[in-house]
Amino acid sequence: MIHPAALDAADPLAHFRERFALPEGTIYLDGNSLGALPKATPTAIAAVVEREWGEGLIGSWNDADWVRAPQRIGDKIAGLIGADEGEVVACDSTSVNIFKALAAALSLRSGRATLLSETGNFPTDLYMMHGLERLSGGATKARAVSPEDVLDAIDSDTAAVLLTHVHYKSGAMRDMAATTNAIQEKGALTIWDLSHSTGAVPLDLNGANADFAVGCGYKFLNGGPGAPAFIFVAKRHQAAALPALSGWFGHAAPFAFRDDYEAAPGIERFLAGTPSIVGLAGLECGIDLMREADIVAIRAKSLSLAALFEERMAQLAKAYGFERIGPDDPTKRGSHVSYRHPEAYAIVQALKVRGVVGDFRDPDVMRFGITPLYLSHADIARAVAILGEVMQSGAWDCADYKVRAAVT
Ligand SMILES: *Cc1c(COP(=O)(O)O)cnc(C)c1O
Repeated sequence: MIHPAALDAADPLAHFRERFALPEGTIYLDGNSLGALPKATPTAIAAVVEREWGEGLIGSWNDADWVRAPQRIGDKIAGLIGADEGEVVACDSTSVNIFKALAAALSLRSGRATLLSETGNFPTDLYMMHGLERLSGGATKARAVSPEDVLDAIDSDTAAVLLTHVHYKSGAMRDMAATTNAIQEKGALTIWDLSHSTGAVPLDLNGANADFAVGCGYKFLNGGPGAPAFIFVAKRHQAAALPALSGWFGHAAPFAFRDDYEAAPGIERFLAGTPSIVGLAGLECGIDLMREADIVAIRAKSLSLAALFEERMAQLAKAYGFERIGPDDPTKRGSHVSYRHPEAYAIVQALKVRGVVGDFRDPDVMRFGITPLYLSHADIARAVAILGEVMQSGAWDCADYKVRAAVT
């Protein structure tokens, strides 16, 4: 039996909790979908809006260094994902950055036309591949095979393999170095989607010799709703990888206003248009906070919280038929735990009403994000105890909890 109080007393990350503004009485187990609000963020955003924009006006592009915000913040993200300075920019959405990475990978593998991914991947990843297929009039081929067949499906036509490092539903985590190596041995490039990995698990893109990666700013990085995402392109590819979204902010000399396009020499070529400055300000607060914490300590606490969660769930699982999905070995999962139950949707709603915020993923998955910077072992024990009450009382079985909202 795990003792939450003893673990919390020895928790080296406990002090981070007070750096977040969370409503009283809420146990927030959805930080893998929308991270919590750092207390520093409202002040930082207000300063950008009131001072830099309101008073500095257009001069702030230079005076407040707005113009280099995507690179500055990209360099900070690089430190979290095992990349070097000059390999990451913070910009656009993850979806758009997936498109850019796919197109750039195709430009580096001109004799190859297939983009490969896995079925059951986060939908936008597959949709973006299909979009490129349509745009090319079918010259580019988008293909998805089952997760265990991906490596075998790579052939001499495969230009790039797009994989999510930590699966958004099951939490299954791929071995980045081994997978990258296997893909590259067959002549294809790797595109890693790090949406559920960045800020959650230690990452080493360059140690794995990764080619491209993208990731999300509003999940474990706590950048705020719709925060800019990021794109990583390994230095060795930057000069040859051609941006399909060849916007003026990726031009070698944007303020020369020339008619002809010339891609910027470095990672800047993967910028498209004017950066979202207010969004970047929120993202930077989340990243600065994340950079204060040691990712190895975050991972250790995540595994400890997850172990407690599983221990407490084991009793409920038997009584009420919850089935944990994903690998049994917790070190082969990211930082969320997921359970299948036929009434998952209603149960998640009943929990929310009682202050425990998790989420539901179609058709029957309850997903609980484990965010070590603002969750304690006591929170986890209490959340599972509340789930036990909801099940025992049958409180979940209420018509109101079965009506699906627009965002689940
Ligand atoms: C959350 C998530 C995204 C999000 O894409 P957006 O463009 O930010 O909506 C993409 N891929 C994966 C794997 C995700 O988990």
